[in-house]
Amino acid sequence: MITKNTQRSPKRELSWRELLLKSIVSPHQLADFFPVDIDAVQRVNELYPMRINPYYLSLIRDQGDPLWIQAVADIRELQDHSAMQSDPLLEEGQSPVPHLIHRYPDRVVFLVSSQCAMYCRHCMRKRRVGRGIRITPKSLEKGIHYIRSTPVIREVILSGGDPFMLADDHLEYILRAIRMIPHVEILRVHSRVPCVLPQRITVGLVRMLRRFHPLYINIQFNHPNEITPESATACARMADAGIPLGSQTVLLKGVNDDADVMTNLMRNLVKIRVKPYYLHHGDPVSGTGHFRTTIAKGKEIMRALYAAIPGEAIPQYVIDLPGGGGKVPLDPNDS
Ligand SMILES: *Cc1c(COP(=O)(O)O)cnc(C)c1O
Ligand code: SF4
Repeated sequence: MITKNTQRSPKRELSWRELLLKSIVSPHQLADFFPVDIDAVQRVNELYPMRINPYYLSLIRDQGDPLWIQAVADIRELQDHSAMQSDPLLEEGQSPVPHLIHRYPDRVVFLVSSQCAMYCRHCMRKRRVGRGIRITPKSLEKGIHYIRSTPVIREVILSGGDPFMLADDHLEYILRAIRMIPHVEILRVHSRVPCVLPQRITVGLVRMLRRFHPLYINIQFNHPNEITPESATACARMADAGIPLGSQTVLLKGVNDDADVMTNLMRNLVKIRVKPYYLHHGDPVSGTGHFRTTIAKGKEIMRALYAAIPGEAIPQYVIDLPGGGGKVPLDPNDS
């Protein structure tokens, strides 16, 4: 269903930068819209910042709904530190240079921004995003130098934070520098922006991106209510520019841990030309424990997907092995 709460929706003419500037970042601003416990939100906000831009806010239908849960700071983020770790996948240990993760031989993740258009409460990089980590021109050069001097790298995945939070010319500079390295065959961008702030996907941005093919973009869509006329337009622009689009959905309790919701999400993704790529089982990251579900639940949902929808709409269910072992597929028919 493509519907929207128009009451709080922002005026059409606001640019993505203006929308970002109007984001809710404090409990007092949030309290203008919803009755919240200001002290609790404040305590969480001090550790894990909040940013809810007016576009994403306009998609929230009720307090506590699946989009609210992803956006609004929750006191439970401060209560789960025992079984959880800030960096369970040992990303920091697999960083040969700052802000670059080299886990699989042929590809690296290059963290080019620490900002996001929204700070998702379930983020697996909560330890980093929005917390004043500075990615300087010098550290970017170190990353590019590492890629240039490591010929086994065939693919570079720009991630963050969100690469699309960079200005067009800055992102273009990075893409061009990497594109000039002969052994890098594929570029990929991991972004949530087409979902959480689709206004950022401007004609100018896409015109720039299409010069760097083969370029893939993976987006994180987690709920059918995130698929709107705006996000459909953003994805159409990128798909029309020949950019293959995927979704790395995260299995989240209270958001999409339900066969009907997930079926609906996957069906609507293929309609906007986004191929479901992964369904990620959540990582045991500090501050995200209240989003965790069981693997049995994930397998049950996958079996329902296989029974209901065509192959192009089915993601691969994966889990990251602790300690940096990498992603492994989970077979829904194994017990
Ligand atoms: C997930 C991930 C990748 C990309 O893996 P794909 O399976 O190719 O999508 C690369 N590096 C790291 C560290 C990752 O976590
Ligand atoms: S957009 Fe991605 S990196 Fe940023 S907070 Fe959300 S999940 Fe984390």
